[in-house]
Amino acid sequence: MVDECERLKSAARDFDLEADDDFVDPKALSAVIDLLQGKLCKVLHQARRRGDHQLARLTPTSWVARTCGLSRTAAADRLCVGKHLSSLPAVADALAKGEIGFQSTSAICHLRDQLREKWDPANESETVEFARRFSVEDFRALCQHARHAADPDGFEKDSEDDYERRWLEVNPMLDGMHAIDGVLDPATGAAFRTALESLAQWRGEGDTRNHGQRMADALGELLDHHMNEGRLPRQNGVRPHVTLTTTLEGLKGEVGSPAAELEGGVLIGGKTVERLACDCTMSRVLLADSMVIDVGRATRTIAPATRRALQKRDRHCRWPGCDRPIGWTNPHHIEFWSRGGPTNLTNLVSLCHYHHRQVHEGGWQVVKAGNEFRFHPPERLRTAFARGPDLGVAA
Ligand SMILES: [Zn+2]
Ligand SMILES: [Zn+2]
Repeated sequence: MVDECERLKSAARDFDLEADDDFVDPKALSAVIDLLQGKLCKVLHQARRRGDHQLARLTPTSWVARTCGLSRTAAADRLCVGKHLSSLPAVADALAKGEIGFQSTSAICHLRDQLREKWDPANESETVEFARRFSVEDFRALCQHARHAADPDGFEKDSEDDYERRWLEVNPMLDGMHAIDGVLDPATGAAFRTALESLAQWRGEGDTRNHGQRMADALGELLDHHMNEGRLPRQNGVRPHVTLTTTLEGLKGEVGSPAAELEGGVLIGGKTVERLACDCTMSRVLLADSMVIDVGRATRTIAPATRRALQKRDRHCRWPGCDRPIGWTNPHHIEFWSRGGPTNLTNLVSLCHYHHRQVHEGGWQVVKAGNEFRFHPPERLRTAFARGPDLGVAA
């Protein structure tokens, strides 16, 4: 075996030295690599049967992962292929001839492994034919269907085992940003993606966010919507909400005032405070020498009757061309509430999550002109929008 490998290594070295990248057929090269992968799988399977992993006091998968520098998932895959490839002559033949790639070979070997005694050798040639015709993704999906048809109970059990692998973590980072990581079961993952994708559409001229940023904003919008609906289960007797603590000076944005704090001591900027204050529940806490001496009654910035009247008037986000329905908007104070703007219909306009942020953090200005609203871009965007669509009048 050592000699064989030396021969192969020397051939590979010669190939590398002599071959001009422009004259190597990528399809043929890929077929050679896939063929070698198949060979590696069989070699690893033999090593497992000999018990090489036991000498190293490792599981077969860990031994392969360490020996070949692979992830444990890839190592388990190689062992599965190695176990079945020799007993699947039509598959091995198609791989050797470069008719199917290693990934399709692996899909067939996994199907063989999952079906156990329910695998019908008479179907092997037909399976190879499907692997030839379909893309790797489509072929994998086909294998899943074949598995489900031949062994529904086994499919169910595997799905339940997979479900055990689900996890989700949201961790605050040192700078107050949050990192999200996790694995979701197929149904939750699909729902998560569908919900976010529907909210993460490009919002037209001036929307410079990349896809990842739009997905992050979509999650924010989704959470904002559900919190505002007030239908989430109560915790300790109150609806889930985000608590922000600030001083009167901070709320007014006075120079030198301390920054507002979220729970956990994370600081947030004045523009965001102004946005959140547009529609929130306010509690006044009076302190003297850091001692609480009075707690006022919690009041909504916007009274329910005013909110209903506003919803009836606006029916959707009033930003030109935006069709977010009223249930997905927040009332915005044209003259900011924190700067003394009154809470009446004349001073309120419904804006969706994205456009509300554009106005506060993004620096756009809303001006009421009769029954309509005009949206003026900040100075830095004026030239860019000079030739763009007319954003002056709301639809
Ligand atoms: Zn606002
Ligand atoms: Zn909008």
